Amino acid sequence: MEKIVNQSMLRLVEGDITQETTDAIVNAANSGLMGGGGVDGAIHRAGGPKILEECKKIHAQMGQLPAGQAVITTAGNMKARFVIHTVGPIWHNGDRNEPEILASCYRESLKIAIENRCQSISFPSISTGAYGYPINLAAPVAVNTVINFLTGVYCHIPLLVRFVLFSSSVFDAYAEAVRANAIVQE
Ligand code: ADP
Repeated sequence: MEKIVNQSMLRLVEGDITQETTDAIVNAANSGLMGGGGVDGAIHRAGGPKILEECKKIHAQMGQLPAGQAVITTAGNMKARFVIHTVGPIWHNGDRNEPEILASCYRESLKIAIENRCQSISFPSISTGAYGYPINLAAPVAVNTVINFLTGVYCHIPLLVRFVLFSSSVFDAYAEAVRANAIVQE
């Protein structure tokens, strides 16, 4: 499924983000930047130890990465050039600014991609695994934030943004959010 936004393209695919050939892939990391389970573990396994070395250096300089922020490393053995590590919100019934923090993950990742001259970027479904964010609530935040970014002033070059979704049910939730966004825009 795809949608043209300004001169940029938003595409949804079902797949494994470690296989992406975009300039950057985004990791749903944790604040310690030490790797973990889910997509984080898959990215570190596929990319090799170089990514963790860089993460350790960043952590030594900056300490814990707060939720909603993003940092960048190389992508080790993967085809992408960069991994952008962002920390999603842990779901607490929506009482702790989870939508704002989740939106910030997508915006900050897109900004750091543009600062590093990326023309394409792939996102997983941040926070909807171990962090427990309900998929039907997370998908519209993800999709609407990316579409708003692509229409905003910060996005001065055409970008390809791919959501790489690990199962058909996650894909369906994102597809529904893209359809709903078109209705909102009309
Ligand atoms: P979080 O801690 O932010 O919730 P998880 O890694 O637990 O992150 O889950 C986020 C999403 O990433 C889930 O939908 C999960 O199914 C998905 N995921 C896991 N492995 C991969 C992968 N290799 N490629 C793309 N998505 C993945």
